[in-house]
Amino acid sequence: MPENQISHQILRDVFGHSQFRDPQEKVINTLMSGGNALVLMPTGGGKSLCYQIPAIALPGTAIVVSPLIALMEDQVRALHQLGISASALHSGMEPAQQERVEVQLAARQLKLLYCAPERLLQERMLRVLEQTGISLVAIDEAHCVSQWGYDFRPEYLRLHILRKKFPSTPHIALTATADPETRVEILARLGLPGAAVFSRSFDRPNIRYSVCRNAPPRESLLDFLRRRHPCSSGIVYCSSRKKVEETAVWLQHHGFPALPYHAGMSAALRQEHQQQFQQNAIAIMVATVAFGMGIDKPDVRFVAHLNLPKSLESYYQETGRAGRDGSPADAWIHYGFQDVFHLRRRIRESDSHTARKALDESRLQSMLDFCEEQGCQRQYLLSYLGESLEGRCGNCDNCLSPQNPWNATQAAQKAFSAIYRTGQQFGVRHLIDVLQGRQTPRIRQMGHDCLSVYGIGSDIPARRWQALFRHLLAKAYILPHPEGHGGLMLDESSRDILRGKMEIYLGLPA
Ligand code: ADP
Ligand code: ZN
Repeated sequence: MPENQISHQILRDVFGHSQFRDPQEKVINTLMSGGNALVLMPTGGGKSLCYQIPAIALPGTAIVVSPLIALMEDQVRALHQLGISASALHSGMEPAQQERVEVQLAARQLKLLYCAPERLLQERMLRVLEQTGISLVAIDEAHCVSQWGYDFRPEYLRLHILRKKFPSTPHIALTATADPETRVEILARLGLPGAAVFSRSFDRPNIRYSVCRNAPPRESLLDFLRRRHPCSSGIVYCSSRKKVEETAVWLQHHGFPALPYHAGMSAALRQEHQQQFQQNAIAIMVATVAFGMGIDKPDVRFVAHLNLPKSLESYYQETGRAGRDGSPADAWIHYGFQDVFHLRRRIRESDSHTARKALDESRLQSMLDFCEEQGCQRQYLLSYLGESLEGRCGNCDNCLSPQNPWNATQAAQKAFSAIYRTGQQFGVRHLIDVLQGRQTPRIRQMGHDCLSVYGIGSDIPARRWQALFRHLLAKAYILPHPEGHGGLMLDESSRDILRGKMEIYLGLPA
């Protein structure tokens, strides 16, 4: 039987699906004819079939490298239900259990072996594999090889050994990471420079993106939940354990079924909460990013962020957990001046070396630019991921309620002057008081009511000033002062605006 007929038959008879999704068939054909592949598909896109079908069709055992034990066991269970012989091997198993799997492997009884990378790369294990003969090597969550990525696993760096040991065995690397730099890094580090790259659009049209700026975070979240999700299932991400605990209690207090989840909790309690979340149609998980990879709940109706993720790539991954069933879902993020200030300062003050800092800063910048974007947010997100979207999406805040652009150039010049005249050491609240010409004890004490900038911005309401300062900080025209407590200073780039070489526009609610 021709190869593509075999794969169709397996798709139908084993998996019960009538058609391949793009680009599954092309990937399978590549592997079946001995080639290597890199597959980039969003979570839920159907990556597993790309290696499971060749694994079933080809003689020998397919090795699947996976970073997460829970994920491996789920897959093995699912394959057993379909009548496929598969096992997992990782150091969390009893030695006797591991031995049993090795016996199965040596007896060539397995179609698929899911294996943790450190277990796979043991000398003895590699020798067994050389004797049994393997049909293909699949490396799942391949972005874990990216050293500066958010899921880096040092064991993944040694996986290129497989390519040397099994040069003629087809290799496939799979990831839901869309960041173009990471793609290049994966191919290089796994030793697969000539692999065919297959990708599917990363657009998730059913997800509606919204950015909530400035208003108090928790109250805004509550308002969002009451308006859009009075009884659904969702995830609320926070940056710290403490904030997770506080937010969960606070949501419970307001009648929402919220559960905390973070790495400081006992494994048993974490598992209990994860199960409750998984099984209930109405449940809110308040979590740090420790709650992430491997969540497989199709009806998550919203993903809310009370803090900014480290990069737009992380934001895409985290929000991708919403609406896997294809029904409408929300990605909502709260974002304000304080977030930008703390993140910028944390990167500047970190001990990382300069290259790392620059990378962290450029990642943060992508996230900030998304939050400040005044055009279609989906267009911005997709172009960051290396895709283009024709026309506006019609399903993001900026498309649904377009803002009026305010020419804020003059106001920005006033803000810069206020920072400069007060000695580049004061925080945003004081600066706004100065601009608005308020009488505060601090202003009198510092004599700031005698400055030329005092009161020059009294025609602009405080909220608008706050939005402008946030924008200026997000765009790095102003920066946290390295020594000050909350003080702001000017960046070189502010000169372009001061001299009128550049204009600044800010979106205002229509
Ligand atoms: P990923 O690993 O990309 O997150 P999975 O491989 O777990 O995604 O697949 C996600 C879901 O899509 C699974 O429920 C799977 O059964 C389903 N699926 C995959 N391929 C097809 C297909 N060709 N037709 C119908 N359903 C499919
Ligand atoms: Zn849009």
